[in-house]
Amino acid sequence: MCEDSLNPFAIAQRQLDEAAEKLHLDEATHEFLRWPQREFIVTIPVKMDDGKFKVFKGYRVQYNSSRGPTKGGIRWHPDETIDTVRALAAWMTWKTAVMDIPLGGGKGGITCNPKEMSEGEKERLARAYIRAVGRLLGVTKDVPAPDVYTTPKIMAWMMDEFETIQEESHPGVITGKPIPLGGSQGRGDATARGGVYCTREAAKVLNINLDGKTAAIQGFGNAGQYAALLGEEILGLKIIAVSDSKGGIINKNGFSAKELVKYKLENGQLKGFPGADDITNEELLELDVTVLFPSALENVITEENAAKIKATISCELANGPTTPEADLILHDNNVFVLPDFLANAGGVTVSYFEQVQNTYNFYWELDDVYKMLDKKMTRSFHDVYYMAQKEKVHMRLAAYMVSVARVAEACKLRGWV
Ligand code: NAD
Repeated sequence: MCEDSLNPFAIAQRQLDEAAEKLHLDEATHEFLRWPQREFIVTIPVKMDDGKFKVFKGYRVQYNSSRGPTKGGIRWHPDETIDTVRALAAWMTWKTAVMDIPLGGGKGGITCNPKEMSEGEKERLARAYIRAVGRLLGVTKDVPAPDVYTTPKIMAWMMDEFETIQEESHPGVITGKPIPLGGSQGRGDATARGGVYCTREAAKVLNINLDGKTAAIQGFGNAGQYAALLGEEILGLKIIAVSDSKGGIINKNGFSAKELVKYKLENGQLKGFPGADDITNEELLELDVTVLFPSALENVITEENAAKIKATISCELANGPTTPEADLILHDNNVFVLPDFLANAGGVTVSYFEQVQNTYNFYWELDDVYKMLDKKMTRSFHDVYYMAQKEKVHMRLAAYMVSVARVAEACKLRGWV
């Protein structure tokens, strides 16, 4: 049992408990779904550029495979722990289920700081990780993808190492690959695009015209940068504040998303952007905007600041940005939350499309990816919204109820519980 109230896995378990109670899940099924089916911890020595060895901890958690092979990204972060990976693997299980794609949930990680590593050191770490956990992976077993601080380039090294060990082609063993190596068109912006489609559907049911309305984005990596570009392009949002790990910037008149991305790519940070004032990450969350995109890490909206959140819609591109206590406060204050494992499911959905294309060895046009993603996101949003209305619960609990019921049914059909 995890006790710490900000431990992400304790939070994931509490969220499940609430859904299990609402669904009147039997005790054995509930207990089974509270824990990963399998987890692996590996110790990986890597030769660094100075000739000395450094030892890293790596993880792979296969949370639930009742609906298909497990699927989930690999995060490289200095604060990575087994409990973060467990929580992310649980959320992947609920994510593939809410999207109704035939996959289970898993996640991997390495405790490391890639910002302090050379390209050569990162490549050696990526290959060593695959040598350590490769036997667990495969298109019919478990398929990784990128997450925080891992990139298509890292996925390419990992796939190459796997294929070198297996002595045959296995493009579907990993997704989020560069396009020349079997990556899918549209995977790059899929997470934010899915969130933007969900926000569009939320605005429809809330009767809001988003054109010209304001948005703030916390975190300016893959998810955050594309949220800015696509929020502006598809929804007509005016991006007034953005932040990264070094701090945030604000301009009440709105930024050009393209200029922001260009500046971030050239300077490695947002601070110093011409014509902008500084703002802290905490202040950004409390801005009076129509759409807030938490797009960095866990536990940024807690009972400490939830009452100060003024956004109309919080589209959670990050995993686990809101604690259960904060959820209740946001619900009471009519903040419409698009819960993480629905809002950011575009990434895994296009990863699934990538796997399908790899298996068929036939590749889709970009437009086909967008259309298929839109169809899946729209349908899942309405499945969850319908549940929220029917059961009179907030959107996260509704999303849990949809997903947990689907996973529980698969476990029962298999005769597991
Ligand atoms: P990324 O590594 O590309 O970017 C992370 C960003 O967060 C960086 O801009 C970094 O500066 C910023 N950041 C880090 N710590 C911060 C802090 N304390 N305050 C503000 N900003 C901070 O990662 P990403 O892929 O964009 O992932 C971001 C979130 O989205 C994560 O929670 C991840 O699990 C989730 N997510 C990503 C994908 C995907 O396909 N990339 C899919 C689903 C969910």
